[in-house]
Amino acid sequence: MFHSQILVNLIYLVAAVLFIFGLKMIAHPRTAVRGNLLSSLAMLIAVVVTVWLIVAANTASWAGWLLIVVGLVIGGGIGAVLALKVEMTQMPQLVALFNGLGGGASVLVAGAELIGMTNTEATADVMLATGLSGLIGTVTFWGSLVAFGKLQEISFFEKELPIPAPQAVNAVLAVVLIGMMVLMAAWGVGWPYIVIFLLATILGFTLVMPIGGADMPVVIALLNSYSGLAAAATGFVIDNNVLIISGSLVGASGIILTQIMCKAMNRSLLNVLFGTMQSGSGPAGADHEMYATVRSTSADDIAMILDNAQRVVFVPGYGLAVAQAQHAVRDLANILQERGATVEYAIHPVAGRMPGHMNVLLAEADVPYDQLKEMDEINPTLGQVDVAIVIGANDVVNPLANTDPNSPIAGMPIIEVSKARTVIVIKRSLSPGFAKIPNPLFAAENTLMFFSDGKKAVLDIVGAVKEL
Ligand code: NDP
Repeated sequence: MFHSQILVNLIYLVAAVLFIFGLKMIAHPRTAVRGNLLSSLAMLIAVVVTVWLIVAANTASWAGWLLIVVGLVIGGGIGAVLALKVEMTQMPQLVALFNGLGGGASVLVAGAELIGMTNTEATADVMLATGLSGLIGTVTFWGSLVAFGKLQEISFFEKELPIPAPQAVNAVLAVVLIGMMVLMAAWGVGWPYIVIFLLATILGFTLVMPIGGADMPVVIALLNSYSGLAAAATGFVIDNNVLIISGSLVGASGIILTQIMCKAMNRSLLNVLFGTMQSGSGPAGADHEMYATVRSTSADDIAMILDNAQRVVFVPGYGLAVAQAQHAVRDLANILQERGATVEYAIHPVAGRMPGHMNVLLAEADVPYDQLKEMDEINPTLGQVDVAIVIGANDVVNPLANTDPNSPIAGMPIIEVSKARTVIVIKRSLSPGFAKIPNPLFAAENTLMFFSDGKKAVLDIVGAVKEL
């Protein structure tokens, strides 16, 4: 019979396998779109089978069905609008929101299950899973909202918390929260769930509020992992295998991404978790004394320099995404290649505002994948580069990461553009980047600044090169 538990679990298994293949394919730009579609199909299968389970068991009232349909329409509608409307540069905020809503959903589902739970159902393992779901889901929800607020640059979230010793507060909260979970598991009582929700709300703020500057990508990846763990715990509460498997996949992939990000920014996870990292302070813009020797240039001069260049490397950053300059850059690259130059793109793992941001942008402009070089691959060869063109990148090319141990980005590996014969930096002003610190690269001997919007600058250079 179709609705037998074995058949349902088998179909859940098929969905899980599709999730895993989808994840594998998402890891490479060539197969990423198909991977995404495969994972979406897996999600559709999981949802349809779960709805079918309700039909077969005949457990939902008409009001229950109405709620399911209203939920599908509202959720699907919001998802469709966001997918069409949100700009690439706002994607990290969106990911933060998605993580948060996933965590929030886990809290609500586990809480609803708790309300209807009988004494015999409230076994220690189920109660522990419920408590975990409440704790991790609540921290994820509030923490993600704070991350959203920070990325959206809402001033409230950039303030310091009015708490004297946040670390100590976090430690006390953690101890009480563990106590509440033990209480739930040992005595089968439900009321600590409310205490868990309230205290975890505070923890969500105290954990994420102090974190700023260059640590934000790690926080997003970590919250992503938390949302998966909360979903997996909820899977145990409502006894749903596909939720346990998919939650674990999100939890595991999130933590792997967290580690990759930590390595890319040279931060330890503990350091990130306890939020000792802040953005820079003091003057970082044009008034900084280090900018006394800055030299600016024009599109015509750059065209002349490029005319003699054999090897050119573009270094894209967040500003390229803001300016939507990817298509113009691809056009310039094509012209340079037609004139016999070799063109590559140096991709820093945290360039932009989310992991893989630059890869997605350049793929959108049909830049061939084999021209994209990861930081570790391109750095040793930058000495043989004639011209490095930095477009809207700042922190990821800032030599202070190597030279100033007190800098917020100290130890972060950078694209070592200053090794190139000539460095051209395209940005609108001497304003700092995300970490809010000055950048000595702009004043280096072999650097020329082209102050302009990224797209306009590249279009101007294309025009000037064509006129040569
Ligand atoms: P940065 O944020 O360091 O610098 C971007 C630069 O782009 C700015 O200095 C700005 O200068 C310039 N810019 C902005 N708009 C334009 C425009 N229209 N045309 C030309 N230039 C423009 O970017 P990076 O990519 O170098 O570094 C990324 C930073 O973001 C790192 O600190 C990273 O840790 C952090 N981060 C990364 C995440 C990720 O996962 N990738 C997530 C969250 C944060 P000006 O105003 O003068 O034009």
